[in-house]
Amino acid sequence: MPLRIGLFGGTFDPPHIGHLVVATHVRELVGLDHSVLAVAGDPWQKSDVRRVTPARHRLEMVRLAAAPYPGILVDDREVRRSGPTYTIDTVRLLKEEGIASITGVADPSGEAEVAVSLIVGSDAAAGLETWHRAGELREMVDLIVVERPGHPLGVPPGWSFTPVAVPQLDVSSSDLRRRMAEGLPVEVLVPPSVVTYMRTVGLYSMNG
Ligand code: ATP
Repeated sequence: MPLRIGLFGGTFDPPHIGHLVVATHVRELVGLDHSVLAVAGDPWQKSDVRRVTPARHRLEMVRLAAAPYPGILVDDREVRRSGPTYTIDTVRLLKEEGIASITGVADPSGEAEVAVSLIVGSDAAAGLETWHRAGELREMVDLIVVERPGHPLGVPPGWSFTPVAVPQLDVSSSDLRRRMAEGLPVEVLVPPSVVTYMRTVGLYSMNG
């Protein structure tokens, strides 16, 4: 049996309870060995449109958010690599280099083969055809889609997917950035350790 990994990529600017519910629940419901939060280094589809928080802060916030959950691993390879972030490269490297490339420790079962399920929210699923080398990516992964409020489940023609039902939370990083900028509460929507980090560093403040 290959090791089954759920790859859940994102900008995580900042990470929130919606991300954590997806990563933990999908892992359990589907029976994955690990959920992997892959932090985008230079999310090319977003960085042309708005100023993205430096990757080292987003990575640290994701590490803090994931820390209480042993089933969630954090992959920083997209941050370490310079240039734009492409999911297909991450999938290829995970398959080639195995889980040790994330944890630094070989899988104790000695299993080298890795099967990658790509986990996306229904908003991201709608745009899969715009992803870099989408046709190849489609052949390399099993796609898992979770429904996000306001975005009905669906994928572009030619893709197949497994829908996984998790509690739907109407939370987004963009709303959280706005809340931070306006001085509105973000508690519970963002884990306490991440709230402390954002406030200490001064992320998303009006002048930040
Ligand atoms: P932004 O509001 O800045 O676009 P976001 O909240 O959508 O950010 P991302 O880091 O861009 O967060 O999303 C990463 C992945 O998480 C995507 O697949 C997205 O669909 C999914 N996702 C984000 N928020 C939720 C949520 N509340 N429920 C389910 N999936 C989510």
